[in-house]
Amino acid sequence: MSFTRSKHLAFIQELDGRIQKLDYWQADYLRMNGIYWALTALLLLRPELDPLSNEFDLSSPLTRTDVLKFVVECQRPEGGFGGNVGHDAHMTFTLSAIQILVMIKGLNDPRIDLDRHIRCTLPAQQSPNHLGIQSRQREDGSFSGDEDGEIDTRFSYCAISALKLLARLDAINLSTAVAFVEKCRNFDGGFGAIPGGESHAGQIFCCVGMLTILNIEIQAADRLSEWLAWRQLPCGGLNGRPEKLEDVCYSWWVLSSMAMLNRLTWIDGEKLKEFILSCQDAVSGGFSDRPDDMADIFHTVFGLAGLALLGFPGLDSVDPKYCMPTRFL
Ligand SMILES: [Zn+2]
Repeated sequence: MSFTRSKHLAFIQELDGRIQKLDYWQADYLRMNGIYWALTALLLLRPELDPLSNEFDLSSPLTRTDVLKFVVECQRPEGGFGGNVGHDAHMTFTLSAIQILVMIKGLNDPRIDLDRHIRCTLPAQQSPNHLGIQSRQREDGSFSGDEDGEIDTRFSYCAISALKLLARLDAINLSTAVAFVEKCRNFDGGFGAIPGGESHAGQIFCCVGMLTILNIEIQAADRLSEWLAWRQLPCGGLNGRPEKLEDVCYSWWVLSSMAMLNRLTWIDGEKLKEFILSCQDAVSGGFSDRPDDMADIFHTVFGLAGLALLGFPGLDSVDPKYCMPTRFL
């Protein structure tokens, strides 16, 4: 199937209208992530597009002014960003908010109080309620996503990726953060969500990404790369762990990990390209998880990012650690 660039651009532009009609409640809850996915997809498709230009406002699902206003309104008084206005803070939304601000060049907007989202600036008696990144780290180095306290290596990645983008890694204890992630490494070279958790390509992206951001060499890289290479199925697509179906989003989690391990050639790139292209919606644009399923923005951004990492012509280059166009880093 040939690459339908103009359809994908139309898909992104019409996203807000689609969201209202289709699965609004889900998109409503994940709106911060959704805007990060849509912006990244748009900027990968349009390498020449400047987010400060008027043209950006014409091709993006929201204008720069609206995106900035939305991110400002999702700031929580107790630190961190919510997934939508009035929603509770969560690490995944905080990372998306910072990625959005980097891409639209909004970090210096006077309405954004970055310090509140990084360090606890509340009076001492209120400090246990702080939900910024620093307060999410526990004594063993792990991070919780929100006040419910769930621990997951995904949140370690969110913390380190966000703080590195802000040049504020000094805010947390890096040595315990790394020690915790190393404890989540398995005998197969992969990583799980918590110590003893099953290896999974999504968690591997997070752990390899975090260690790579910190310039820490990945141990047992050959064993891990072999496990990742086994994720490619005869159809060319990749799965997230053994016995599971192929899925376009794993084109990104597996492939970016291979890129960070300097072993991109261990995957058959041509077959993977064919698989990703077969997941395009040839009529309305966008990518789905597998051929003929319904397209969504999550699989669209990771399909495009996977193609970009494979050097697909006409797409901007993408950074495997951050899943953002390299021109913003
Ligand atoms: Zn998927």
